[in-house]
Amino acid sequence: MAQRVLVVEDEKDLATVVAYNLRAEGLDVIVAENGEAALREATSRRLDLVVLDLNLPDISGLEVCRRLKANAATRDLPILIASARGEEVDRVVGLELGADDYVVKPFSVRELVLRVRAILRRAEGGPPTADVVEFGCLKIDRAAHRVFVHDQEVQLTALELRLLTTLQERKNRTQSRDTLLIDVWQLNTPIESRTVDTHVKRLREKLGPAASYIRTVRGIGYRFAESPDEPME
Ligand code: CA
Repeated sequence: MAQRVLVVEDEKDLATVVAYNLRAEGLDVIVAENGEAALREATSRRLDLVVLDLNLPDISGLEVCRRLKANAATRDLPILIASARGEEVDRVVGLELGADDYVVKPFSVRELVLRVRAILRRAEGGPPTADVVEFGCLKIDRAAHRVFVHDQEVQLTALELRLLTTLQERKNRTQSRDTLLIDVWQLNTPIESRTVDTHVKRLREKLGPAASYIRTVRGIGYRFAESPDEPME
């Protein structure tokens, strides 16, 4: 099931751009244009994160944050606050109220997406950890850091192994190049997304007949497919 993000933003153009980019990350996005609508959405359906503008036409974002944290049903819902520069007091209050992170407008959408990703990952509590996983001819022994294709060991670099296991842990979910640069390369600021392509190419070459488990998702990134027989995109 896709993770669901509520974007609370009364500036329609900004809300559209943010929603578009979060959807491109495979997230399910709902937009609320004011505080009351946000509270209604948050209490009426399962959400994984709220992106909350502070300057709303009805009740303030801080009040929305306060109410979400006061309600047992929404207390644990992560909140990323977005607000205009210069509202330092709001920033402090927001974090005191229990918001998880804060971006200052005008923010780059890319930065926002990365922060959303980071919060969702923390909230997920990390991937499941079976020691050995098998998909057809591909076997990954995570404990021993070894990979086999048709029982023949494939020699991967540490980075290639991390790339493969990261994709496998998130199987069937598309990972953007930026996400991979942060999680596999452990870069704070993703640069050179071609790097990902180069390494995926090399990894596929080494995997040979198992290469098709790693699918290209055009314009976004890569996805580990459980079945290698799915048609190519
Ligand atoms: Ca606003």
